[in-house]
Amino acid sequence: MKIAVFSTKPYDEQYLLKHNQERGHDIMFFETALNHKTTDLTKGFDVVCVFVNDKLDARTLNKLKSNGVRLIALRCAGFNNVDMPVARELGLTVVRVPAYSPEAVAEHAVALIMTLNRKTHKAYNRIREGNFSLYRLIGFNLNKKTVGVIGTGKIGSAFCKIMNGFGCKIVAFDTYESASLKAMGVEYVPLEQLLQGSDIISLHCPLTTDTFHMINQKALLNMKDGVMLINTSRGALINTPDIIEALKSRKVGYLGIDVYEQEEKLFFNDLSENIIDDELVLRLISFPNVLITSHQAFLTNEALNQIALITLDNMEDFANGKPLVNLVE
Ligand code: NAD
Repeated sequence: MKIAVFSTKPYDEQYLLKHNQERGHDIMFFETALNHKTTDLTKGFDVVCVFVNDKLDARTLNKLKSNGVRLIALRCAGFNNVDMPVARELGLTVVRVPAYSPEAVAEHAVALIMTLNRKTHKAYNRIREGNFSLYRLIGFNLNKKTVGVIGTGKIGSAFCKIMNGFGCKIVAFDTYESASLKAMGVEYVPLEQLLQGSDIISLHCPLTTDTFHMINQKALLNMKDGVMLINTSRGALINTPDIIEALKSRKVGYLGIDVYEQEEKLFFNDLSENIIDDELVLRLISFPNVLITSHQAFLTNEALNQIALITLDNMEDFANGKPLVNLVE
């Protein structure tokens, strides 16, 4: 099959080529993102392979269809960037990688917590400058703190297990309750109770119409003063102007985000010599208690191998008319 890979980074090319050696697909890599402006590049390809910030809206999907594309292979779990009703209407098949390494993302959420709490990023910079002072580096013990987990699917479950190891009390909110997490001591509570009682809140639910801006002014007012909020899920779960107000008023004591609502204009790119045209992200960066990583929670060797393998398997099943285990319906 002829495959066009968009938003290619060197690691995408490296891992896809490694696992394509025995399969022999004809793969073309494009650094540019796929959106309605770049669809001309898809002419003559059977498959487009895309990532989180490629924008497959109605305009893009209609052009893909007229260019002869038959399969959209997401190399990620979330599919909020694809207009699924339009894809269905056009008969475009969409597959994804529902789970590649939940631990990779869960462990990154923990890295954000540990860094914000114990300020190792600040200590690193200080010591490089010969500053061995401990001034303003005080953290808190995770042991016995209450951690609220919103969404206890694959990543949320992996996260609960790690936090359980720290000796935290874990409260969770999900539309589906996991029996194995309950057996481990996780207590499912209503969302309001989770917001009110948690010292740390970590978001692990997908972005849907229900969860869009679920962390807004009302939810923030319900939280403990000085709460730590972690988002490795999708940026639009948080209303950014509202969280900025909550940081300014000291309601939120720490914010760790791997995702950001307007990330597609920023993340994955070196903009160090550019003027950044996004007042909200600049305000967030200005807070000493905010830690931003640019959607790197998935970025481990194990996850990249799995993403490449499952993506190529999905394409092969499609080519061979086999049932699509990772079909987005
Ligand atoms: P999953 O489908 O296994 O779990 C999601 C859970 O959220 C499910 O248990 C579901 O019942 C629950 N849920 C759905 N709606 C909810 C709601 N309104 N309130 C509370 N819970 C709700 O998905 P996963 O593999 O655990 O991934 C979770 C999210 O993590 C993905 O949707 C994706 O957005 C994000 N993600 C981020 C990265 C990254 O690199 N930062 C990588 C992979 C996935």
